[in-house]
Amino acid sequence: MINQSLKNLSQLLASKAVSSVEMTQTFLERIRQYNPTINAYITIDEEKSLAQAKAADSLIAAGTATTLTGIPFAQKDIFCAKDWRTTCGSKMLANFIAPYDAHVIAQFNHVGAVNLGKTNMDEFAMGSSNETSYFGGVKNPWDLTRVPGGSSGGSAAAVAARLCAAATGTDTGGSIRQPASLCGFTGLKPTYGLVSRYGMIAFASSLDQAGPMAKSAEDCALMMNVMAGFDARDSTSLNHPKEDYTAKLEQPLAGLKVGLPKEYFAEGLDSDVAKVVDEAIATYQKLGAEFVDISLPNASLSIPVYYVLAPAEASSNLSRYDGVRYGHRTAQYDDLMDMYMKSRAEGFGEEVKRRILIGTYVLSAGYYDAYYLKAQQIRHLIADDFKAAFKQCDIIMGPTVPSTAFKTGEKTDDPVAMYLQDIYTIATNLAGLPGMSIPAGFSASIDGHDLPVGLQLIGNYFDEARMLNVAHAYQQVTDWHTAMPKGIE
Ligand code: GLN
Repeated sequence: MINQSLKNLSQLLASKAVSSVEMTQTFLERIRQYNPTINAYITIDEEKSLAQAKAADSLIAAGTATTLTGIPFAQKDIFCAKDWRTTCGSKMLANFIAPYDAHVIAQFNHVGAVNLGKTNMDEFAMGSSNETSYFGGVKNPWDLTRVPGGSSGGSAAAVAARLCAAATGTDTGGSIRQPASLCGFTGLKPTYGLVSRYGMIAFASSLDQAGPMAKSAEDCALMMNVMAGFDARDSTSLNHPKEDYTAKLEQPLAGLKVGLPKEYFAEGLDSDVAKVVDEAIATYQKLGAEFVDISLPNASLSIPVYYVLAPAEASSNLSRYDGVRYGHRTAQYDDLMDMYMKSRAEGFGEEVKRRILIGTYVLSAGYYDAYYLKAQQIRHLIADDFKAAFKQCDIIMGPTVPSTAFKTGEKTDDPVAMYLQDIYTIATNLAGLPGMSIPAGFSASIDGHDLPVGLQLIGNYFDEARMLNVAHAYQQVTDWHTAMPKGIE
């Protein structure tokens, strides 16, 4: 059951071959077995999950079930879920019980899906390895000595180790796609504004976007059908007509124009990754796609631009954690100012503090024009590059990450090396475009471990259905997306 597609799981439930309670129990059992090692989940509440499963079984019995009814999902701990502890991977929120549901959670609840638990993540979604979590690192199921990527590392490991049917994540600079590449599954970051950010704990509001993390493009499409949609409670939610993301899945690819940005195949790309990406391109050629060389001349500026803008927004968003209304409050203090300072000093980890310092600096009088304003201007140039590129092609392809999963601890003392993980993903967030990562193969085996490699697809605004179609066509002729790490069967 654990390696089945969402469609098949749905059929198992509809035919009453399995109940949602049984399916949920199967995954809870696996979580009990593997989570102590992998640490994918921060919070599990079997009683709550099973109550939802029971309710789902009633819907199925009554004949009012929809496709995802009764299917158990893992939810990134960045989404507020009513009565669930919601930590965002931080000591600051270690005891915070959310009083309401995020839009994404409400959407899953609305269709009667089951919440298996809240997944581990880098603190406030800042990181590329899940090592900044207050709740400890997450292990990559393909090699337990390596990181799963981040910030959605818990969801990533849960999907890879089949500790859920699928999961949600968020992607501010690559946090769905980079772990998808490192853990060998399919992840989609939608067009900015397509999925409501209501109740999703804010990191960098102009970049944050929630999306599905699943085995296949078809699974992602089914999840998008539930997740996407206008929500008046998020002022940046887009009033885009509701779409069926599965509708175009089977469309043939003949005539598809694919752009290959030369900047994504330049120095810094591991030869192992390049080889896998080249093979994927060859497969797409066989499927009828045509390739054109394109250029994204400002792509190299996306990391510096992001590391001005994201910390600026984070410093503002995180000012709400003052120890007064909710979150960590220091035990002893002299006066109000002392209480603020001690609560924040104790509640935030090192990376979060680094970002607050950078963000406050670039927004301060005298530096605002030099850094923040300049970064905003370059952000437009980066978006313009894509606009020009999409005049030449329908979709852009390249590597998701320059390398495969790295060893735990390998980059913890070098923030810039960590930041470079997102060199191919961040421009998409800056432009607000949708991006995907799909499993495309493995590196040469290291110490007996095969490490997954992802292929990135970047689409034009609202072209999710087309991207899912392009990914699905590839997954019809390859089976990388069904491969499971050894030792977790
Ligand atoms: N790795 C990037 C960062 O640390 C992106 C994180 C994300 O997408 N949430 O900011």
